[in-house]
Amino acid sequence: MPSQPTPRRRFLKESVGLAGSAVFAAAAVPLPAALSGSNENRKLKVVCVGGHPDDPESGCAGTLARYAELGHAVTIIYITRGERGIRDKSLDESAKIRSVECESACKIIGARPLFFGQIDGATELTRVQVDAMTKLLSNEKPDVVFTHWPIDTHMDHQVASFLTIRACMALRPHPDLYFFEVNTGSQSEGFLPNTYVDVSSVLEKKKNALFSHESQDGKGVWRDHHEVIANWRGREAGVRAAEAFVHLNRENPNSQLPGI
Ligand SMILES: [Zn+2]
Repeated sequence: MPSQPTPRRRFLKESVGLAGSAVFAAAAVPLPAALSGSNENRKLKVVCVGGHPDDPESGCAGTLARYAELGHAVTIIYITRGERGIRDKSLDESAKIRSVECESACKIIGARPLFFGQIDGATELTRVQVDAMTKLLSNEKPDVVFTHWPIDTHMDHQVASFLTIRACMALRPHPDLYFFEVNTGSQSEGFLPNTYVDVSSVLEKKKNALFSHESQDGKGVWRDHHEVIANWRGREAGVRAAEAFVHLNRENPNSQLPGI
């Protein structure tokens, strides 16, 4: 149950928490001042780390768009530029094309893109890379961090996740860390969310951000995978469309997604 009572309508609209088949109110999402009428209107720094161009868009573009609409600062860190994602193109050519697609997607979301500099299909989890991610996140000073759920069939997704986990563990104070799903059933595995965000109002932004990745058939990715997931998570949460997360933060066990 939430530590503080949450009006039922707001709770149902904004978030629910599920554990297996049992429904419990674990994810009371505090609303920003503009929506909740509270006095809390501090501008948050939100960072999302994804393995490839189109991963952050697939996993949490709706939530990021909501943060951006509310005036919070949103940054997306792409671990790679998707160098191996276009058949018959060189790594450099693909990187160029896909970086432009990232920039278009970020414009729609209201996010600032950053590129971490690893290579698609050859990502590395080393102390040097952990130190680099720790340095980058230290500079960003995020309040909220999103990254891949670490159990995933794609190693680049796992590397993105573990680099972020290690960096977040090194930061003081720890940011709130949320794991997103991508292409569940084929990539993310064993994903049991405990936090949901209603993205019905920003669904067009999420779709268009994904559609920006033309080289990856963003429309097909949406139709075949993430539309299904958005609808399903919406059904679980009792809203039209939702994004789901696993929240990891021992200091904030109520699964509260700050500021949104
Ligand atoms: Zn990916």
